[in-house]
Amino acid sequence: MALWFQQALLPEGWRPDVRVILKGRSIDRIVHGIPPEPDDERHGPAFAGLPNLHSHAFQRAMSGLTEIAGQGSDSFWTWREAMYRFLDRLNPESLHAIAALAYAEMLESGFTSVGEFHYLHHDPAGAPYANPAAMAEAIAEAAKDTGIALTLLPVFYAHSDFGGAPPTPGQRRFLHTPDSFVHLLEALKPLDATLGIAPHSLRAVTPDELAAITALAPKGPIHIHIAEQQAEVEACLAWSGQRPVEWLLDHVPVDQRWCLIHATHITDSERRAIANSRATVGLCPITEANLGDGLFPASAFLAEGGRIGIGSDSNVEIDAAAELRLLEYGQRLTHQGRNLLTSPNQSTGASLYHHARNAAPALGHPPAALAPGARADIVTLRRDQPATAARSGDALLDSWVFARAQIDSVWCAGVRRVTAGHHHARPAIEARYAQHLKALLD
Ligand SMILES: [Zn+2]
Repeated sequence: MALWFQQALLPEGWRPDVRVILKGRSIDRIVHGIPPEPDDERHGPAFAGLPNLHSHAFQRAMSGLTEIAGQGSDSFWTWREAMYRFLDRLNPESLHAIAALAYAEMLESGFTSVGEFHYLHHDPAGAPYANPAAMAEAIAEAAKDTGIALTLLPVFYAHSDFGGAPPTPGQRRFLHTPDSFVHLLEALKPLDATLGIAPHSLRAVTPDELAAITALAPKGPIHIHIAEQQAEVEACLAWSGQRPVEWLLDHVPVDQRWCLIHATHITDSERRAIANSRATVGLCPITEANLGDGLFPASAFLAEGGRIGIGSDSNVEIDAAAELRLLEYGQRLTHQGRNLLTSPNQSTGASLYHHARNAAPALGHPPAALAPGARADIVTLRRDQPATAARSGDALLDSWVFARAQIDSVWCAGVRRVTAGHHHARPAIEARYAQHLKALLD
């Protein structure tokens, strides 16, 4: 089948009148500068979909439920206690229902792949399910329902703090030993997902466990939460005399397979060392703002050749363009300047888009592209909206990122999943979500 776009972002740049011929999951051929043929579907401006590097799908169900001040001062840590109480009731069926809504919303916002940082492994009492992959299968089913490309990052979690501190009762559903983790990885192999691995954080693994776990994944991506909170930096200093990123880069061969999630609290030398390691930093600006984490020094990091991508993390709001916008605005507010995450005379929206798109290898696949042979992950903007009127080229990406230009259609692996801004399965997914949420919150 063939799609015709008013204009499209190809590897060589924006081109008008673009005809894309699909074959199965991929793009077969592209011709530009030609009118549509009678049977072609006709669409507005098109660009390739973005990878969402970091998601905890189940947290979508907590969105809007933790915005009430407590008695003392609220922080990441009080939010985490609320999250632990919430997940006491989740089972594979409710996780499936919640993840499906999160993934449908990701597709509607222009994400066509997701890295699920999956740590909710066991039953509410903390006992392994008869099938150790029961919760992961629920996630894979949600990805299948919605059509998003899944990279599953099973999390190894064993301790509550640095130095191998025993886990807390709230962490009982996450816990593995290196041996039980081997069984989990075996059980995940049949799933329709790219597999990576995720030591949760330096708090949750000892150095020996970190070495054992990373050795289990000789090829796939490796993701870790790091330096998200100042208290974590202080605890790491007390334990080792080093800061978290400093410790990691000193003790582990971090390379382009690694994705450091957040890396918020870093020194100038840690920032340069991450850039030199070729690791990707997975930034989650909306969640980092919601949790009061702090700001990553993105403009200095990009100037040093660092690699960044974006993630929706807690899924409090799922919106690829809003993540990019807040990433730039955080820098503007800090540095009291404008257009900071781009180069001279270049569009900021386009620069942010390309950085996010190029981070796809952190999910174990090449960046999506409108190019022959690439997986057909395509996003279009509505033609009939003020935000795109009389605009072309990179100004369309600026309008998407900064001026709320609306998405029209989204294809993932050659299948159209979103039309007029709505996922095709949204009514059924919403109904199932509402039913499960009522049971969870009663
Ligand atoms: Zn996270």
